[in-house]
Amino acid sequence: MDQSYSYQTRLPVFAEADVVVAGGGPAGIGAALAAARNGASVLLVEQRGFLGGMATVSLVPAYTPYSDQEKPVIRGIGLEVLQAMKDAMQPGLKEAYRDIVDWVPIEAETLKLLLDAKMEEAGVRLLFHTCISDVIRSGDRVEALVIHNKSGSHAVKAKWFIDATSDADLVFRAGGKFHKGGEEGELQPATMCFVLNRLNRSRFEAFTREHGKLNAHIERGKASGELKVLHNWAAIAFHNESTCGFNFGHIAGIDGTNAEDLTRGAVEGRKLVHHIADWLRRHIPGFEEAVVAQTGEQIGIRETRRIVGDYTVTFDDFTTCRSFPDDIARNAYYIDVHLSKPLRDGKTFIDKIYLPPGKSHGIPYRSLLPVDFANLFVAGRSISADRTTQGSMRVMPTCFAFGEAAGTAGALLTIAGKTNTRELDMAVLQRQLVRQGAWIGDGNDAN
Ligand SMILES: Cc1cc2nc3c(=O)[nH]c(=O)nc-3n(C[C@H](O)[C@H](O)[C@H](O)COP(=O)(O)OP(=O)(O)OC[C@H]3O[C@@H](n4cnc5c(N)ncnc54)[C@H](O)[C@@H]3O)c2cc1C
Repeated sequence: MDQSYSYQTRLPVFAEADVVVAGGGPAGIGAALAAARNGASVLLVEQRGFLGGMATVSLVPAYTPYSDQEKPVIRGIGLEVLQAMKDAMQPGLKEAYRDIVDWVPIEAETLKLLLDAKMEEAGVRLLFHTCISDVIRSGDRVEALVIHNKSGSHAVKAKWFIDATSDADLVFRAGGKFHKGGEEGELQPATMCFVLNRLNRSRFEAFTREHGKLNAHIERGKASGELKVLHNWAAIAFHNESTCGFNFGHIAGIDGTNAEDLTRGAVEGRKLVHHIADWLRRHIPGFEEAVVAQTGEQIGIRETRRIVGDYTVTFDDFTTCRSFPDDIARNAYYIDVHLSKPLRDGKTFIDKIYLPPGKSHGIPYRSLLPVDFANLFVAGRSISADRTTQGSMRVMPTCFAFGEAAGTAGALLTIAGKTNTRELDMAVLQRQLVRQGAWIGDGNDAN
C-alpha cells in the first residue's frame, strides 16, 4: 500500500532578494552582513528565533583562537563580532579579555542582542522561526527555496543563494554531491553543552592548582565507573565568579541531519548533563552548590555533510601551509577530530596536529562552490574539504570568514551583472575583502 500523500505544491512567493542566506550561524552572519554592506538586498532565513549558530543554539562556550599565536588570522567581520561581544561583556570578563582573541568565552545573550543590531544596521531582512525544507532547482540554477513557518509554506527567490546551514541542506535538497563523515559513515560525537551557576571559581582554581586539572579528575571519575562519559575531556569557560559554560559529555551515533537522532540527542544529552553536574557537585571543590542553569536548545553537532566543491581542501594543504591564487581566508586552528569510538590505545581524538606559531594555510574560493551549481555558495563547516581538514576548519572564527567571502562575492556578482559564481574576478573579490579588513595572507597581491 502506498504510504505517502500528495499535497498542494503551488507556493506563493514570500520574498525576492539579490542574496538569500540560509542559516544564521557564524557563516550566515558573515555572509549576510558582507552582502548587505556591499549593496545587495539580503534575506537571512533562520529556523531559531536568534542568530549565532552553535554559540547560541547549542551554547558552545568559547570561540577557538582567531590567531596563529602571533597575529589574528581571522579578521574582518569575525573579529568585529568578537570585539563587539567583548565590549558588551560583563565587567571582569571584559577587562580580562581586552587584548585577547583566543578562546574568548561566549555570552550567548550578549551575542544574540548585538547580532540583531548589526543586521538592522546593515539592512539585512531577517526571517526567524523558519525552516528551509526544499530547493526548487532548474538545471544548474537554484530558483527558489521552500520555507515553512507559522505563516505556512512559501518560496523565496534570489539571484544568489548561500547555504550556511552547516549541514549543506540546500545542496542536499537540490540533489548535489557531498560526503558525510568517515569511510564507514562514522561521525564525530555530539555534545549537549551547558551552563552551571552557583559555582565558586576561586575555590575551584585553588583546587586544580594543587591537585591537577579538571580533566585528570574526570579521568579518575570515569575509571572508577562513577562518571559515565565517553571521553575524559571537558572544555570550560567561566563567565564570572559563579557561572561557567561547559563543553563536556560526548554522545556517539547522533546524525545531525536526522530528526529522530536529534531528538534522542536532546533527551540523552539533558540526562547526561544532570549526571555530570551531580558528579561535579560531589567531587570537585568549588562546584558543591552547582545548579544546571541552561542546556543547549539543540545538542551540538560537530560533523555532517561536506560538499564536493570545485576544489577540496586537503590535509596536505594544511600541513604544507599551502596558499592558492583564489584564497579568500586563512586557517591556523589545529586538527581537532573527536572520535565516536575510542581507539584500541584508548585515544578519543585522532592526533591533534598543530601548525607552528605564525603559520596558516589558505582557503580557496573554489572550495565554497558546489559542483554542478551556478548560483549557489556553501559557507561554514560543510565547505569542500577532506574529513581531517574539516576537523580543523569547522570552528566558528573560520566560518565567519567563509561567510564574509561568500556574501561579498554575491554582492559583487550582482553589481557586475554576472550569472555564475565562477565569473567573478578573484582580484576584485580579494581586494574588496582586504578593504573590509579581512586577511588573506601577507603574500597576496590584494594587500
Ligand atoms: C560541541 C561542540 C563544541 C565546539 N567547540 C567549539 C569551540 O570551542 N569554538 C569554536 O569556535 N567552535 C567550536 N565548535 C564548532 C563550531 O561551533 C561549528 O562548527 C560552527 O558553529 C559552524 O558554523 P556554521 O555557521 O557553519 O553553522 P552553525 O553554527 O551550525 O549555524 C547554522 C545555523 O543554520 C540554521 N539552520 C540549519 N539548518 C537550517 C534550515 N534547514 N533552515 C533554517 N535554518 C537552518 C541553524 O539553526 C543554525 O543557526 C564546536 C561544535 C560543537 C558541536
